[in-house]
Amino acid sequence: SILHRAHFTTSAARLDQLPPPGAPEVCFVGRSNAGKSSAINVLTQQRRLAFSSKTPGRTRLINMFGLPDPLEPERDLGFLVDLPGYGYASVAREDRSQWAQVLGGYLRNRTSLAGVVLLVDIRRGVTDLDRNLIDWIAPSGKPVLALLTKADKFPYGQRIKAQFAVKKELAAIGALHTVPFSSTHRIGLDEAAAHIEGWLMP
Ligand code: GDP
Repeated sequence: SILHRAHFTTSAARLDQLPPPGAPEVCFVGRSNAGKSSAINVLTQQRRLAFSSKTPGRTRLINMFGLPDPLEPERDLGFLVDLPGYGYASVAREDRSQWAQVLGGYLRNRTSLAGVVLLVDIRRGVTDLDRNLIDWIAPSGKPVLALLTKADKFPYGQRIKAQFAVKKELAAIGALHTVPFSSTHRIGLDEAAAHIEGWLMP
């Protein structure tokens, strides 16, 4: 998979610090603790590429990971973009509104954005904070891959039920694909990777 070649390229605290839009980008968004960094690490097969929201430091930043062209490794043919997690209880109000601006601005305006991977903890389902995000994404028409994380916590029947509920919640999104996913048990990994690759290399 080209995702395995991911390498850290840039961190940005603000949108104007991002490199100008170029090769297609796939961004990862979700509540803190939803399993975003675990998913990025397992999809790229790199143990510590993305940092958990429990790790202080890089988590408030936008982190970009380049995917080198196998034929021309100097050139990145796409990017994975790790957006800051939201909804962490201990975070001050003004910080939260700043994140909302960064997330909203990126999702609405980034022209190189090819698709959005939304991480939803399968046990929590879609939360109010996720709904805010959907309101920014849906009008853009960008496709969304919802990974229902920690699917290992649920038996098969409950997974399907949760998947159905998420589909209903996210009905405003035109191009939606949902996958029960587990980083620890590698559930849905191939399906998710293939979907993301399809966005990067149409
Ligand atoms: P982030 O804050 O969204 O980046 O979430 P992390 O990837 O750091 O994961 C948050 C917590 O959930 C950690 O304690 C992980 O070990 C746990 N976790 C992440 N993915 C899975 C999974 O697929 N299955 C289970 N059972 N736990 C997971």
